[in-house]
Amino acid sequence: MTEPLLSVHDLSMVYLRRAGLFGRRAQPIRALNGVNFTVGAGETLGIVGESGCGKSTLARCLLRLLRPSGGGIQFDGEDLLALKNEDMRMMRQRMQMVLQNPFSSLNPRLNGFELVAEPLRTHTMMSRKEMVDRVVTLLAEVGLSAEFMSRHPHQLSGGQAQRIALARALALNPDFIVLDEPTSALDVSVQAQIINLLLGLQRQRGLTYLFITHDLSVVQHISDRIAVMYLGKIVEETSSEAIFANPQHPYTQALLSSTPVPDPAAKRQRIILPGSVPSATNPPAGCAFHTRCPQVMDICRMRYPASRLVARNHRVSCHLYEESA
Ligand code: SF4
Repeated sequence: MTEPLLSVHDLSMVYLRRAGLFGRRAQPIRALNGVNFTVGAGETLGIVGESGCGKSTLARCLLRLLRPSGGGIQFDGEDLLALKNEDMRMMRQRMQMVLQNPFSSLNPRLNGFELVAEPLRTHTMMSRKEMVDRVVTLLAEVGLSAEFMSRHPHQLSGGQAQRIALARALALNPDFIVLDEPTSALDVSVQAQIINLLLGLQRQRGLTYLFITHDLSVVQHISDRIAVMYLGKIVEETSSEAIFANPQHPYTQALLSSTPVPDPAAKRQRIILPGSVPSATNPPAGCAFHTRCPQVMDICRMRYPASRLVARNHRVSCHLYEESA
């Protein structure tokens, strides 16, 4: 088996939030709590979970925009957390990120050319002519004509702005892109176009993606594997097909039950979860999902379930799958 391109081991991230009178008390927020996964070269791993589960913190830790509190991140054999700042800056050329709202991630004062050329200007010695040629090629790759070089973000639709953000992310020929909810701010028809564009770019360039979303149906067609996160932990991880055909964790089953299916005859019974994701400042003891789980047992309130293989390449953290349960 070849080495994974990205390997994340026991990653944790604890923030300290100031609380109390005059902010004198430091309150720990455990955003990530022992996250483990790997992503192979050319593969897409979907990370799915509700808002507040730690997905975006994970994305920022991977690119070391945040320094994790513990654990390890290996990228192409390099220990990212041990790299000096300058080496990490070079490494980021190979690791890019595309965010949910292109209008807040793109500088409104720059036009299409300046936005896409900015990384080239910072990291290469290209002449102006070379840069223009490169930007025209990158725009064509994302389905935009050279005309878009003169447009500013306010003159773009959501889909066009996200294409500019993608062209910018591709400028330095990365191997790996973190896509943090890249389609959630877009209309459904535009979402499908962006997903198809991402799939095409992956085929042509051999890209590796980490696709973060709150919506399981969005990642179904793009992900090879899917990891479901709840309150800073991965609770289930397997192939995209197995998650949809045979979800095992009660949280995954609930998420899936609210996902629309194309065939009305195959309608799933909706599982309504009470409440929302508990606060990471005071997570429930034992299995963090026990306050909302329709299948909760006594043991769930006391002990966190270990991650177990329930089938080939299918891991679940739930006491329902422990021999003692
Ligand atoms: Fe539900 Fe218990 Fe499984 Fe947690 S461990 S998901 S509370 S059954």
